[in-house]
Amino acid sequence: MIVMKFGGTSVQDAQAIDRVAGIVRERLAEKPVVVVSALAKITDQLLGMAVAAGAGQRDRALDLCRAARERHYNTAAELLGTRAFEQIAPDLEADFNGLDELLRGVVAVGELTLRTTDAIAGFGERVSSKIAAAAFSQRNIEAVHVDARRCIVTDNNFGKAVPQFEETDARLAEVMTPLLDRGRVPVMGGFIASTHEGVSTTLGRGGSDFSAAIAGAGLNAQRIEIWTDVDGMMTTDPGLCPQARRIKSITFEEAAELAYFGAKVLHPATLLPAIRKNIPVLILNSRNPKNEGTRITATAPKGKNIFKAIAAKKRITVVDVVATRMLMAHGFLKSIFEVFANHRCPVDMVSTSEVSVSLTVDSNESIAAIAADLARLADVKYEGRQAIVCLVGENIRNTRGIAAKVFGCIGDVNIRMISQGASEINISFVIDEADVPAVVSRLHHAFFSEVDPEVFA
Ligand code: ADP
Ligand code: ASP
Ligand code: MG
Repeated sequence: MIVMKFGGTSVQDAQAIDRVAGIVRERLAEKPVVVVSALAKITDQLLGMAVAAGAGQRDRALDLCRAARERHYNTAAELLGTRAFEQIAPDLEADFNGLDELLRGVVAVGELTLRTTDAIAGFGERVSSKIAAAAFSQRNIEAVHVDARRCIVTDNNFGKAVPQFEETDARLAEVMTPLLDRGRVPVMGGFIASTHEGVSTTLGRGGSDFSAAIAGAGLNAQRIEIWTDVDGMMTTDPGLCPQARRIKSITFEEAAELAYFGAKVLHPATLLPAIRKNIPVLILNSRNPKNEGTRITATAPKGKNIFKAIAAKKRITVVDVVATRMLMAHGFLKSIFEVFANHRCPVDMVSTSEVSVSLTVDSNESIAAIAADLARLADVKYEGRQAIVCLVGENIRNTRGIAAKVFGCIGDVNIRMISQGASEINISFVIDEADVPAVVSRLHHAFFSEVDPEVFA
């Protein structure tokens, strides 16, 4: 079997979903499980409704909900025609009535919890998967809608829940295998999951890729296909640098670094389940399905270019901890990291000197509280609107003078932190967010003006 995941833009409207049905039909012999995202922008809108309701803005929340309801009804009606639409309309109506009720409840209570936020955020995938399944059935694909919350089990870390693989694998086998054996095409929403007790959770923004990989690993897929709106994994974000080239093949390790450091085309956790079972992951374009995309596997040709790609992760905060009092005291780093751990805040990059430590974290609401806790240990400063730029490639391991080449072409840019060596396939550094477009395009020009055709298209 294979898993095919379609992102938000690939299911943004009736025409896109119709195109997806055509792509799935081509693969029926391979027994696909289909994972879909919410219609493009819907998750943002759902979170907007949740925040409005939490702030007591009842009318705004319900207006946003009405607009989302209309968009889904119109999309479904256009895809299905009147008769088939009438069959799924009560189901969609029940979902949107449930969402309305939830929003009214939040307004009434005057508080938006993380748990309720997850319940609201998940509606996009709940309904998009029903519409896609109905559209497939109407196009003579024997599709069956599966509520992902029956299959993907997580802890209760709302907003970024962590999958419990053992139970998830068992449930996937129990739900999906009988369907696949009968030649059915299961269609489920990405991003959404539930706790062992059945409380709705989500896997974090962009998490539908992760859902696809969890399903693929659980069901021992031959391949996991991530269908999106670009031709594959590119040498950099094509939105940032139109000269970006397609990478034909890349290793798990390289792609995971890129995803972690901002290549949004892949959710950072996606490759973990694939690596565990050694399942190839393909990035493909639903608007250009004949293109061969990018193949992510355990090994890949290295080619002549030093790097495979450049990623940039914005919305970073740099935290500087200066500890003259603690000069050379052992256990100091431990106590710093404990503060971040207590706030469940991952640290991306670290650099140290004798008396100070700089760290980067994703900008989030806890920074002030983290800084307050750190201030008990040392002097603390923090600054937002920073970015990590990261160059990735296995050839870093055996090329000399790379740092000089990288920093030589951006000599006029203020660089806050540098890191190389941790993975041996990554050089990263921190700059001001505003410098990202210029820095990425200069580096791209320097390292990808000529590309090895064995690796890049
Ligand atoms: P989907 O909705 O299909 O999950 P996303 O918007 O999450 O799609 O991811 C696709 C987008 O990722 C692309 O449109 C592109 O702008 C962005 N992107 C960032 N870095 C890269 C990269 N290295 N290669 C390809 N796309 C990238
Ligand atoms: N719809 C979710 C989001 O926008 C998940 C996804 O699309 O991967 O974050
Ligand atoms: Mg995505």
